[in-house]
Amino acid sequence: MNYKDLIDRIEAGYEPDAQEIESLIQLDRPEAEYLFNAANRTTQKYCGNKVHIRGIIEFSNYCRCRCLYCGINCDNNDVKRYRMEPDEIIENAALAYKAGYRTVVLQSGEDLWYTRDKISYIVKSIKSAGDMAITLSVGERNHEDYLQWFRDGADRFLIKHETADEKLYNMLHPHSNFNNRLKCLRDLKKIGYQLGSGFMVGLPGQTAETIAKDILLLKELDVDMAGIGPFIPHPKTGLKEKAQGSTFLTLKAVAVSRLLIKKVHLPATTALGVLNSDDKENAFSSGANVIMIKVQDHKYRKLYEIYPKGEGQIESIEAERRKLENFIMGLGREVSDDRGDSLKLKEDNYE
Ligand code: SAH
Repeated sequence: MNYKDLIDRIEAGYEPDAQEIESLIQLDRPEAEYLFNAANRTTQKYCGNKVHIRGIIEFSNYCRCRCLYCGINCDNNDVKRYRMEPDEIIENAALAYKAGYRTVVLQSGEDLWYTRDKISYIVKSIKSAGDMAITLSVGERNHEDYLQWFRDGADRFLIKHETADEKLYNMLHPHSNFNNRLKCLRDLKKIGYQLGSGFMVGLPGQTAETIAKDILLLKELDVDMAGIGPFIPHPKTGLKEKAQGSTFLTLKAVAVSRLLIKKVHLPATTALGVLNSDDKENAFSSGANVIMIKVQDHKYRKLYEIYPKGEGQIESIEAERRKLENFIMGLGREVSDDRGDSLKLKEDNYE
């Protein structure tokens, strides 16, 4: 089948196999334009023209893990570690609410200082203060923890599968393994969370075949959200000499995911650096409908360095949000003022 027919058929509901997905991941320019346009139409049809803005509070950079790619892994002694107190996190979420955020993502390294009860307290306090969705992103914990936080009112959970290649996964995560990651993902879905997974593009040893498996795994996990971003080498990690993942390849992975899964929230991930680029071709023209920005105090931002990134100007949480809203409107998109819950919970589409 030629690539245009294949794209048309997937847009209309055909479920491609791994090889067909791989062929789309390998499209060159200008053929990829056809893929991006189809992804764009699919976004408009299933998500509408609105972009959801999520505020993320990176509340601790302590981590028990040894992820080979990550700058805050526990073997990096050069990191100045910080933890926000539960009440500080709750106040931070209240500020975000006041600035217009209706989703707060609470992310950290895997830091067991935050016990089940501490996170319960944080979730319950934030939920009682207003109608704001909470996404937890605190890594691998046990079933009882996940269940308790869901009962406390946490709405969503983000834990990426990172790569669907089991051998590569186990090599990159010496402290854990692929099966445990999948177990967490499936458990969270079963409990009732809106589930977020995702993966990195351009990891050393990854191929187009792996990316096809990554996308099929998103489908199989029935995710509500998927963060797909390029791998960025961090100078204080074992992968420091490796090449950065390609933006073009990442955009193709986002586009194919949109085309295949349709009702899924796809962020323009921070690693893509959309905000710092004038490039007209970005994740918002290849399937993305969500963006996350940091809302914690500036003194913590630089310290949560999972990969190197430039430091933005220091502005108030309101000014930063306005800037982002202007950016989104500059792309011809609108800004959503609702929580942006899972698209799977909605029957209708935007046709
Ligand atoms: N501890 C939490 C949060 C992880 S950090 C958890 O385990 O889920 C959030 C995401 O950043 C990771 O899931 C990973 O996909 C991404 N990330 C980490 N290091 C990266 C790097 N060097 N380049 C690109 N993305 C990276």
